[in-house]
Amino acid sequence: MGKKTKGEELREQLMFSPENCGEKMSDKEIESAYSFCEPYKTFLDNSKTERDAVKNVVAMVEAKGYKPFDAKTKYNQGDKIYYNNRDRAIIVATVGKKSLDNGVTILAAHIDSPRVDLKPRPLYEDSHLALLKTHYYGGIKKYQWTAVPLALHGAVYRKDGSMVEVNIGEDENDPVFVINDLLPHLAKDQNARTLAKGIEGEELNILIGCMPFKDDKASEKVKLNVMRMLNEKYGFVEGDFRTAELCAVPAQKAKDVGLDRGMVGSYGHDDRVCAYTALMAELDQKEVPEYTSVVVLADKEEVGSDGNTGLHSSYLKYFIADLAAPHGIAGRTVLSASKCLSADVTNAHDPSFPSVTEKNNTAYLNYGVCIMKYTGSGGKGGTNDSDARYMNEVTRVLENADVIWQTGELGKVDQGGGGTVAKFVSALNVDTIDIGVPVLSMHAPFEVVSKLDVYQTYKAFDAFIKRK
Ligand code: MN
Ligand code: MN
Repeated sequence: MGKKTKGEELREQLMFSPENCGEKMSDKEIESAYSFCEPYKTFLDNSKTERDAVKNVVAMVEAKGYKPFDAKTKYNQGDKIYYNNRDRAIIVATVGKKSLDNGVTILAAHIDSPRVDLKPRPLYEDSHLALLKTHYYGGIKKYQWTAVPLALHGAVYRKDGSMVEVNIGEDENDPVFVINDLLPHLAKDQNARTLAKGIEGEELNILIGCMPFKDDKASEKVKLNVMRMLNEKYGFVEGDFRTAELCAVPAQKAKDVGLDRGMVGSYGHDDRVCAYTALMAELDQKEVPEYTSVVVLADKEEVGSDGNTGLHSSYLKYFIADLAAPHGIAGRTVLSASKCLSADVTNAHDPSFPSVTEKNNTAYLNYGVCIMKYTGSGGKGGTNDSDARYMNEVTRVLENADVIWQTGELGKVDQGGGGTVAKFVSALNVDTIDIGVPVLSMHAPFEVVSKLDVYQTYKAFDAFIKRK
């Protein structure tokens, strides 16, 4: 190696180039990243709906000694609490060393994912088959949800007020369900439709049975037979569907992707990848943090954060106000001094579709956790555009912890866009930045993330909880 030229020296001093985690991370750290993703895959498999996720998170935090939040209790440093919001969203917190008027550290992710929900009266028989009518939830490309094995998850309340949890299709020996698509031989008319209309909403009908109940007189015998089996297993009747919450989600399990096993493919990385990394950063803290840490795992992000379990609701604000009130501190004083990472996934550049991104301002797989100053669409419509001071503050925390991070935008200008919960948290006068894992095939039944990015995201959240 010869002496560096003046140009090479200057380049090193002045120019910036992103770093590939695979080159930058030590073999030992890469191994840690791979190990970190093993329990993450299990979490994905067990947490396919927000309801399943909350159930798992409650078990995980209780095992670590967290107690249900009681608004009348005065909590002190080191106290660990959780607030279960209607089994669909959850807040997990550790009271820090500093008084609450110094603000708290908020990590906000969401645990709902796009899927296909059942309608209130889903079950019908047509042409000797029993099917379920659905109403899709969140932004899906409908054609992707046909001809893939589906599982049914949810909660059914019976007439006596008791609840039964439904889960069919996850166990190795369970049957699965499917939305059928047309054979190519007869798809001449369908092929002429636009991709968006290739499969339409009312064609997303789930096949649930074909065997008739043996009886000469009964009508709708296939439907009757399905209802009989549901009743035997779960004790509910057709009318109970009307108040139930049932979701169809991909039945397959999370798998390593690639010969190098560098990626994880799964349903629901968006946004369980940030929910899991945020939660683990909280649970793995060995010492009481300086600032109270508040991990909020929200519902309804995929449909605009509305409803009382979405972050447009006041439950985070109320939780913080209730935490602060026994100390004689106003909730707004805490919020105005708080710092938040809005933890949500972003689009990873896909070499097969390069035209939708701008190469210098898109996230790349394996280039670390992605920070987005703003999201939104068009002229930054509907965004929390974080200020430069806070951007600098957050990225310095990351750099001091050797976190590999990149910046990105969700697509090139005017290509589309998207939003996150950031704008709802920043509406509470909290400093907020969007940050998360780059994803390929986002919102598809099988999304892909890089293990190294997942690990860098975990490191980022850990560093942020530890901020001084
Ligand atoms: Mn998301
Ligand atoms: Mn999403």
